Amino acid sequence: MPFQPLPQDQPSCTVECPACGHRWLVYQQQLGLLGSCTVCDAARPRYTGSVAPGSGRQVSFGSFRRLLDEPRLLSLIEEALGLRPLYAERFADAQGREVPLEDIHYALQGNAEWQGQVYNLHMSRAR
Ligand SMILES: [Zn+2]
Repeated sequence: MPFQPLPQDQPSCTVECPACGHRWLVYQQQLGLLGSCTVCDAARPRYTGSVAPGSGRQVSFGSFRRLLDEPRLLSLIEEALGLRPLYAERFADAQGREVPLEDIHYALQGNAEWQGQVYNLHMSRAR
């Protein structure tokens, strides 16, 4: 059975694919259970460290979705992750494969700089 996070669980561990460099965030409980890279399928991701869960700059998945009509967020997703918007809430990688929005959210939350940029967009919107 695949890992099912509890509502209070936060993905807090960054993993990186040694083959393609793709980085994303997983739950701590998933660390021992990771299969091959979700992007290139060529290697198993390596654990590279934890995001401080209490940084106070996390943006929830719901808030992240509400920011998707923000051009600056789309630019960040394109520049940081190399993904292009398809339509609505769908994005594709350079090979044209669709990337789940959850993965994009986790990836952005897993990098302190990107997390800060999303947070700033969220805060400028929330006012
Ligand atoms: Zn990879």
